[in-house]
Amino acid sequence: MLVDNHNRAINYVRLAVTDRCNLRCFYCMPEEGINYVKRSELLSYEEMERLIRLFVSQGITKVRITGGEPFLRKGMFDFLTRLSNIDGLKDIHITTNGTLTAGKVSQLKSIGIKSINLSLDSLDKARFFEITRRDEFKTVMNTLDELIYHDIPTKINCVVMDGKNIDDIIPMVELTRYKNISVRFIEEMPFNGTGDHPATLFWTSAKTIEYIQSSYSDMYKIEDPAYSTSFNYQIPNFAGTVGFIAAYSRLFCGSCNRIRVTPQGVMKTCLYDNGIFNIKDIMRNGATDQQVIDSLKTALSHRAKDGFEAEKNRGISNQVSESMATIGG
Ligand code: SAM
Ligand code: SF4
Repeated sequence: MLVDNHNRAINYVRLAVTDRCNLRCFYCMPEEGINYVKRSELLSYEEMERLIRLFVSQGITKVRITGGEPFLRKGMFDFLTRLSNIDGLKDIHITTNGTLTAGKVSQLKSIGIKSINLSLDSLDKARFFEITRRDEFKTVMNTLDELIYHDIPTKINCVVMDGKNIDDIIPMVELTRYKNISVRFIEEMPFNGTGDHPATLFWTSAKTIEYIQSSYSDMYKIEDPAYSTSFNYQIPNFAGTVGFIAAYSRLFCGSCNRIRVTPQGVMKTCLYDNGIFNIKDIMRNGATDQQVIDSLKTALSHRAKDGFEAEKNRGISNQVSESMATIGG
């Protein structure tokens, strides 16, 4: 079992398989001027599989495939199938924008994907376009219908944005009335790829909870799963649940069980750090399996206590400017 210097067990890796995306959610990526990672600098499927096997040999049991948009990478279904054959890897999860999965959800079901986090910030077609700058609302809704039809546990990720989708909060909660899904409201983080963001956040999770409770005064707290980043609630007689992810306020660091690998192989032990080392370079320089594992353990022995410390440790430039698509949200 991997354990960090603050005695936190690490059993979860988030692997970003590409930094490319077919949407342009304004809170994540600028519309233009994106310097994509060169193909040769991306971890290959073979390198990713080797890494996951090594992580699993050290006690990692859960992998989340993310990006960029994971399904933009050719061969993704084959890769998922290969991962599903790794002994000891219990759970494979995916975070996707749902634009490339309509019509293919049954394949995900047969591969044995444990759950899908579907990003959906608005239930209004025009607002969806305003936020994502692409006209894909209908396709994403088709993916959502298929996920429910195939009974794949589904969480909707909805970033709460002042002046953009506040009118969607109540309709999003209403989605949980008849659908057994979890809608999670996420605090907007500064990772928008521009470096330009307000110094404070108006729509904190606390504020969103208060806002929802003004319409649903009987919304009550339910037990959070172990290592959950969300605080979870339910409304009496609703089929689904509502969660709140305080990603900006960083209220969940104390129990953080995850590490991240970016598309170009940078190991991050915290969302807010600047990258600890490049695991792809180590592998391409001929490292043995043990050397790769040792470098991971060294990184975990210096892990920041929380996201605030990690941000402070970024050094000369602790200004967060990267896109979430390059980190792996
Ligand atoms: N493209 C896929 C998707 O959108 O689901 C996977 C990658 S995306 C970076 C992963 C998650 O990060 C999405 O749910 C997205 O809403 C969230 N995200 C991106 N930028 C964010 C930001 N600045 N603040 C909060 N969440 C963000
Ligand atoms: Fe693409 Fe996901 Fe970022 Fe939106 S949040 S731009 S879908 S990577």
